[in-house]
Amino acid sequence: MGFSTIAIHAGNEPDAATGAVSVPIYQTSTYAQEGLGRHKGYEYARTQNPTRAALEKNIAALEGARFGFAFASGMSATDSVLKLVKAGDHVILGDNTYGGTFRLFNKVLSNYGIEFDLVDTTDAANLEQAFKPNTRMVFVETPTNPVMSVTDLRAVSEIAHARGVRVVCDNTFMSPYLQRPIEFGVDIVVHSTTKYLNGHSDSVGGFVALNDEKDAEWIGFVQNSVGAILSPFDSFLVLRGTKTLAVRMEAHDRNGRQVAGFLAEHPKVQKVYYPGLVSHPQHELAKRQQKGFGGMVAFETGSLDNARKVLESVKLCILGESLGGVESLISHPASMTHASVPPEKREQLGITDGLVRISVGIEDVEDIIADLDQALS
Ligand SMILES: *Cc1c(COP(=O)(O)O)cnc(C)c1O
Repeated sequence: MGFSTIAIHAGNEPDAATGAVSVPIYQTSTYAQEGLGRHKGYEYARTQNPTRAALEKNIAALEGARFGFAFASGMSATDSVLKLVKAGDHVILGDNTYGGTFRLFNKVLSNYGIEFDLVDTTDAANLEQAFKPNTRMVFVETPTNPVMSVTDLRAVSEIAHARGVRVVCDNTFMSPYLQRPIEFGVDIVVHSTTKYLNGHSDSVGGFVALNDEKDAEWIGFVQNSVGAILSPFDSFLVLRGTKTLAVRMEAHDRNGRQVAGFLAEHPKVQKVYYPGLVSHPQHELAKRQQKGFGGMVAFETGSLDNARKVLESVKLCILGESLGGVESLISHPASMTHASVPPEKREQLGITDGLVRISVGIEDVEDIIADLDQALS
């Protein structure tokens, strides 16, 4: 079956009790049991909830995974995946992941004896050298936030698997519509459903999708033991969001290409970061690995002053963190999403004070471009 058919039907069976076509919000903390040890498979809502179960089935199917788990946020999803490693284990972390992911490793997991190294995973030779005898996981994000560098998921998976090491990919920027990491050998996919999967900027959530039965059993055990579950209402919202994922991503991709093209020609823009541009260093890889290039575009204005002028002059684009919603959002990575990354590291990655990031929404693209044009001039 095609992607949209799966998006609309997987997990979305009519409700057994009433026939409701839309999966109901099962807003309950517990379930009546018929007798001692006899129940309908639901005992307590941290452990099982039908609305969450429907969403878990849905996104797992979209990623081509056997198992899926919905979490209270993207960060709690990532944290749960990191509970597959133990004190004394080493993790290779892409050097340009989401700022919160770096903070989780740097400020939290490091307190529990989990070692990590930041590695530029866009270069396979770099990656080969980073393995240690105690390496247990490679965690990558592609394309990266906000400079959009692309990692070859098949190459990373081959290198890691040759050493018996798991590969995790944060697929938030692409969504399963534009990129399906498991098809390239990735073991575990992580999402912030807050972004494209929900798509309407009205819910915070996370997701883990994977095929390995033993790892899935542990992730499920952690989900129940720690309890960072997605609520029934948020599960409903994300399930509603994924039904239109294909049409939304097509529109984000279409608008993203046009906005990137406009910026690339603009005299006040020094550089544009977008894998869809032929000038992008990994354009060919992005074409092979992704079904499109998406709606995330970053550009260099040259200085903090120039960036501020743009960010404070836009009228349609909303100044704010986050991404992946239907509305265009504009942000300043150095002071917002990447403030927790040390300044030297930011500079090295190209996250300068003049860098501006846009999450291109699905408004009429002429209006987005007109807004950026007036803000730049
Ligand atoms: C937002 C984001 C996260 C964190 O997700 P939350 O839902 O905010 O906890 C992780 N990775 C990427 C790429 C993100 O954009």
